[in-house]
Amino acid sequence: MTNKWRPATTLVHGGTLRSQYGEMSEAIYLTQGFAYDSSEAAEARFKGETDGYIYARYGSPTNDMFEKRMCALEGAEEARATASGMAAVSAALLCQLKAGDHIVAARALFGSCRWVVETLAPRYGIECTLIDGRDLANWEKAIQKNTKVFFLESPTNPTLEIVDIAGVAKLANQIGAKVVVDNVFATPLFQKPLELGAHIVVYSATKHIDGQGRSLAGVILSDKEWVDEHLQDYYRHTGPAMSPFTAWTLIKGLETLPIRVKAQTDNASKIADFLAEHKHVAKVIYPGRKDHPQADIIARQMSGGSTLVCFELKGGKEAAFKLQNALEVVTISNNLGDTRSLITHPATTTHKNLTDEARAELGISPGTVRFSAGIEDGEDLLEDFARALAAI
Ligand SMILES: *Cc1c(COP(=O)(O)O)cnc(C)c1O
Repeated sequence: MTNKWRPATTLVHGGTLRSQYGEMSEAIYLTQGFAYDSSEAAEARFKGETDGYIYARYGSPTNDMFEKRMCALEGAEEARATASGMAAVSAALLCQLKAGDHIVAARALFGSCRWVVETLAPRYGIECTLIDGRDLANWEKAIQKNTKVFFLESPTNPTLEIVDIAGVAKLANQIGAKVVVDNVFATPLFQKPLELGAHIVVYSATKHIDGQGRSLAGVILSDKEWVDEHLQDYYRHTGPAMSPFTAWTLIKGLETLPIRVKAQTDNASKIADFLAEHKHVAKVIYPGRKDHPQADIIARQMSGGSTLVCFELKGGKEAAFKLQNALEVVTISNNLGDTRSLITHPATTTHKNLTDEARAELGISPGTVRFSAGIEDGEDLLEDFARALAAI
């Protein structure tokens, strides 16, 4: 979709459809089906000769507005809204794979994503190789004759490792494979995987896109050719569609996305700098800081820091629990990208199902803590952290 506006304008006006009533706020079309003026009109609609809706599992007006607004933001030709981020990830992968195919994936993946490629896909005869995605040489080494998909997340959860998306895309193009990027942590504002050469982008819209803890949602974006060939039938017939009510909350979420992400990033950056100097903190990983181990790739592929900060406390699990329990403004929760500041201890929550060895490979130690900055006043967050760290 060509787009003449800058992101903030696109996110307020992009994709809006107005009914004959001229409503200002987008309408919620809570309908499962659609009526046809004549038998001929129904026939033409089913043949694809006329535009229009058929059944809400395929598409519907409120979802269409959300999808078009996302396309305009992402620079994608097509989007499909899904009921959750995991519905988006599993559909984006499975719709294009069959028994005998091979996936190469970075091992630092959101827990459920890792389960899909490591445990679910092999049940259907789809092989998977998990690698340390930071080094391009590992992607190249893992390629087999049957490699069809490269799958990655960047920055990763929770240790904010970076994968060189343009580098992986170049390798994929040499063998005709597709690159699927889970772009949740970067947000659609700070990283444009399609411009970097990736073929498919997925989001958990539960995170920054809603950003207010109300909705479970996802979206898949790509070009028209890929959607027509792979996703269209899979999406229509397996039923991961989003509820129109959810689409409406996301349309409203997108309007304020740039304002929220900016406030969250400003807060995250302040907290990262504060933690880096603190005596109880062993290290801070933040994509907006010069001391991030992959600052060079970040400068090439991201236009902003992050709303998340990962840090390690010298006192291990005990110190992490004390800090979390002592925070008053910041809430203990495994969600992220919310207007409220949230903190989580990956080793005992989001990454508890991994073996100690797998956790160590990802750089998750007992003292690792993940902070998701909200939009509160940064001074209150700084005071909260200072007081809670003193409690250790
Ligand atoms: C949350 C998340 C998902 C899953 O999304 P849901 O909306 O919870 O299904 C996938 N990938 C990443 C990186 C996430 O943060």
